[in-house]
Amino acid sequence: MSQAGPRPGRWRLVVVGGGSAAAIQVRRGDVPPQEVLVVAERLGTGMAFLGHSTLQSYAGELLLSGRPEELRAVMRPGDLRPSANEYDTYVQESLMRSGASVTLARVMDIQQDAQGFVLSLRTPGGVRRQVYADGVVLATGSTPRRPPEDLRAAGAITYDTVHRELAAGSTRRWEGMSVVIAGAGNSAMQTAGLMAPDARDVTILANRYIGMYPAESNDRFAWRAPSQLAYELVVKSARECGRQPWNVPCVRHLVHETLTADGGAIRWRYRETDNLGVLGSHSTAGRCRHARAHRVGGDDADGLWEETRRADSTVVVWAAGCTPVYPPGELTGSLAREPDGTLRRDAHGRTDVPGLHVTGACAGQRSVNETVPARTRGPVTGPASGEEPGLPVERVTA
Ligand SMILES: Cc1cc2nc3c(=O)[nH]c(=O)nc-3n(C[C@H](O)[C@H](O)[C@H](O)COP(=O)(O)OP(=O)(O)OC[C@H]3O[C@@H](n4cnc5c(N)ncnc54)[C@H](O)[C@@H]3O)c2cc1C
Repeated sequence: MSQAGPRPGRWRLVVVGGGSAAAIQVRRGDVPPQEVLVVAERLGTGMAFLGHSTLQSYAGELLLSGRPEELRAVMRPGDLRPSANEYDTYVQESLMRSGASVTLARVMDIQQDAQGFVLSLRTPGGVRRQVYADGVVLATGSTPRRPPEDLRAAGAITYDTVHRELAAGSTRRWEGMSVVIAGAGNSAMQTAGLMAPDARDVTILANRYIGMYPAESNDRFAWRAPSQLAYELVVKSARECGRQPWNVPCVRHLVHETLTADGGAIRWRYRETDNLGVLGSHSTAGRCRHARAHRVGGDDADGLWEETRRADSTVVVWAAGCTPVYPPGELTGSLAREPDGTLRRDAHGRTDVPGLHVTGACAGQRSVNETVPARTRGPVTGPASGEEPGLPVERVTA
């Protein structure tokens, strides 16, 4: 779509999103906050569903600006890491105090016009309106990956549902049930620790053994401190199940090959040889007395084991990573993607459309301290219009 002539109320930059990446773009980016409009469905981190749980990163790894005291001010004294709730407050306040204008709305569509972009918004009250911008930065985050169709049909949920239900005070969904968690990382481990007190048993099915950071792996996306609890539960339950005073349901960790649902059953298969390491050796058939397994494909040590649970007494939780989120519409839908589903971009966050940028989780940046603001000034973006942004916006007050 193209429109002729200048428009009043054209912003130098519109940042779509209200999380840590949006705050980093506003506070550390190359456009003065006074020339930026932030449009977000909600202000605060996308990790907010973790509630009171402690984040994996140390406070110093989560800063949005060069002012660590702003984060410390919302944290409990003596803590090394903020809770997700504390971090949520920090992100909100950081945006509110940044000097940028902020409006709460969902971006429904983005189109190019003669000078830049026109964004169609829908406010929480259902009001639709448009804003105009020379440049746009998408900081729209990511969302948990959905389970495959067969598991969905068997009632599988994503791990954020567990956090949300716990925050609402409910454990009913998994009380007395067998829990199967598919995922290898921190989300799987931490979800296991949260469900263990009320479940009948918990089995974590990973596609590989990641290990504790930094003792077993230098990869800082390996298991971090909050995952230590599940690690300990796996070893303790294999050694002490059924003995007083230990009365936590069995928690197992298996590197598996397949997980499927059919005919009212949940089935998974694993190889003993894939589970000879620290945790698997406590959880395989013959080692863990809760492993109700049978061999498939021969008796050799390399043979497969299969376990089956009834679907109506099993809760499958999908904790296998996230997928990027973008505003809907023809423009974003038509852009080329990387193999991981993120939009194709250069090192400065520039997509194939001049003036349209990405940053944060929707740009494949995996953590807050990996997040770099997009560089929006340069030959590919048009010169600033020089107009005062005159469009009426709701300034959200703290
Ligand atoms: C369980 C879990 C634990 C994690 N722990 C850590 C950790 O300890 N340390 C760390 O550094 N990283 C951690 N991460 C990664 C972390 O989530 C990301 O680094 C960071 O939150 C990404 O921030 P973001 O601003 O890109 O996205 P988000 O924080 O998800 O923000 C996206 C924003 O975009 C808005 N939005 C989306 N679509 C639209 C639209 N169409 N219109 C308007 N607004 C829209 C949303 O409302 C939201 O405000 C964790 C991730 C998960 C899932």
